[in-house]
Amino acid sequence: MTERASESAMARLAAVGDVVLLPDCDEASLIGAVAAADALVVRTYSLINAKVIAAAKAAGRLKVIGRGGVGLDNIDLKAALDAGIKVVYTPAASTHAVADLVVGLIVSLQRRVVENDRAMRAGEFSTVRLAKPKANELRHQTVGVIGMGRIGTAVGFRLANGFGTRIIYHDIREIGWLPFPAESKSSHRSVYAEADVVTLHVPLTKLTCGMIDADALASFKPGSYLINAARGPVVVPSALAEALKSGHLAGAAIDVHDPEPPPADYALLSAPNCVLTAHIGARSPEGLAGMNDVVEDVIAVLQGKEPNWPAGPELIE
Ligand code: NAD
Repeated sequence: MTERASESAMARLAAVGDVVLLPDCDEASLIGAVAAADALVVRTYSLINAKVIAAAKAAGRLKVIGRGGVGLDNIDLKAALDAGIKVVYTPAASTHAVADLVVGLIVSLQRRVVENDRAMRAGEFSTVRLAKPKANELRHQTVGVIGMGRIGTAVGFRLANGFGTRIIYHDIREIGWLPFPAESKSSHRSVYAEADVVTLHVPLTKLTCGMIDADALASFKPGSYLINAARGPVVVPSALAEALKSGHLAGAAIDVHDPEPPPADYALLSAPNCVLTAHIGARSPEGLAGMNDVVEDVIAVLQGKEPNWPAGPELIE
């Protein structure tokens, strides 16, 4: 294991074998570990690249990599599958936790909750109370979802059915029936141009890395808001900071960063109306329990059984 899991998950693994928690998850430690292990259990911060997989293949022992969570951007899935190593993950574990956070971030941004809290503590009750409200109620807004997968759908469901928000979206695959009214748009740009809020729910891939750069931000509707609870590298922080400083964007809420933790000179630390959270999207009790359940599939593979959530070749980016 490269990152500590719950006591219960550690105990479930310990019942079938020796569990070693690696003190470091840098490349050298991982290369050493995979040569001696039957299974590797990781979370977000361990990079299982082609070199690590090659070391595992050469030693011929590693049977399964378990990724507690959904984004597989830290695992070279093709290399693992080519080497005959199974990868299991927990695609549904974080969906509701992330969707709850995203809706909360939209409301807190638009109602300036963080700013109110700071002003109250600074004795500026009247100033902040009398500031002119800018965002309309969510029933009068259009929210644009980029990536209408599990999380995008859960966000759209909450907003459309709970708040009466109009939902537009763009996805690179055909999306079938959705449990709320939503309008598919033929391009990213048509969502950016029309949405009052753009919320990102894409995986980190070659296509999405740096997708929200200065050029893309220039096509956003003036006075709109951006939410990123997908992956840090999808947004170029310096470009977003500029868009916020110029007032082209009214606000942003960013849960994921690049790198994590971000450096002291991270451009978004000094950007106006930018709410930052520390990659907490999945961190509800239910979300964490679901991610820890990856050990069930790891154990299944070790015992020669079919796992519930194998990552197949269709997920290779
Ligand atoms: P998902 O696979 O169900 O949905 C992703 C959707 O994005 C798919 O419908 C896919 O077709 C679409 N997509 C891919 N590339 C695209 C592109 N270039 N343009 C438009 N659409 C594109 O995944 P999910 O469970 O909804 O999770 C989405 C992402 O959220 C994960 O990959 C992960 O990076 C991130 N995530 C973040 C947290 C957090 O703590 N903030 C927690 C869980 C997941």
